[in-house]
Amino acid sequence: MDRAALASLLAEWGQPPYRARQAAEAQRAGADGWADVSAFPAALRARLEEHLPFWTLEPRQRVVSRDGTVKWGLRAGDGAFVEAVLIAHEEGRRTVCVSSQAGCALACRFCATGAMGPGRDLTPAEILDQAVLAAREAAAQDARLTNVVFMGMGEPMQNLDAVLEACGGIAAPEGLGISPRRIAISTVGWVPGIARLADHPLAVRLAISLHAADDDTRSALMPINARYPIANLLSACRRYCDTTGRRVFIEYLLLDGVNDAPADARRLARLLRDGRFHVNVIEYNPTAGPYRASPPERRRAFLGALADAGLEASVRRSRGADVAAACGQLARA
Ligand code: SAH
Repeated sequence: MDRAALASLLAEWGQPPYRARQAAEAQRAGADGWADVSAFPAALRARLEEHLPFWTLEPRQRVVSRDGTVKWGLRAGDGAFVEAVLIAHEEGRRTVCVSSQAGCALACRFCATGAMGPGRDLTPAEILDQAVLAAREAAAQDARLTNVVFMGMGEPMQNLDAVLEACGGIAAPEGLGISPRRIAISTVGWVPGIARLADHPLAVRLAISLHAADDDTRSALMPINARYPIANLLSACRRYCDTTGRRVFIEYLLLDGVNDAPADARRLARLLRDGRFHVNVIEYNPTAGPYRASPPERRRAFLGALADAGLEASVRRSRGADVAAACGQLARA
């Protein structure tokens, strides 16, 4: 629901401003069209039906993975297509992984969205609608949407105004009421965006897709590294830590024979040893690219070398891979 467009239509039609809140409440509670907004007079519902789409993104497809992960294929009014994913945790907690662009210009070699090429920026309303849809699904599962991660399609730092506006809506008590501490923006390492986020009043989390501990390896995986090499990127992260007092999450995807040797672990530990980072080691999910996931014994050796070098890491298990809902698998089918 485009709340800004709705507010200006309501004003233009001489409607009281609280109607906007009523519409948002109805959407959260399960309405799927203006006709379902029972707090509105019939004439207003009919008028809105003609003027404004209820959802900015229309769910076209919904698939459920064996592990309970739900993936939606969503279509915008202009035909742009994105995906959003709801991930189940224990104890009734749910995380939604939202998209920020309908494609991606950054061409990371291991990522299915990168293989699609650039697509348009999503609007704040299109991003917020993904979170609202997920919150409704969580409620239907007797659970609560507690976390939002910008790890779907696109590079959030290249659409940062819209992303931050959507975060404002997600965090607002009259929106979804999710604390900014439970919202994470993940980036390839777009340095100007990191600087902007450091100065932004919304205390959202920052995650960096690092994936390599030396520039040659990283540049081969992620073309963006030619523009913002590792030293440059990590100093932007340290400035972010100093300004905000928050730690930065480092994502490290293990690729067999590419970045998963014990020497890579030691190099990574040297880069990140100052305690301002939290490392998440991620399993690779197959895409059309040339890479393979590290086998378990190589993964164990990597994590062992990392621990020996004094760096703690969490391992993030893959979810939803059987329906191509896992990290890096989101793309127009
Ligand atoms: N553009 C942003 C957000 C989208 S990607 C970014 O790059 O951070 C979300 C995460 O999934 C990133 O850490 C990305 O590197 C990772 N990813 C991409 N392809 C993957 C794959 N095939 N398997 C596992 N993770 C992948």
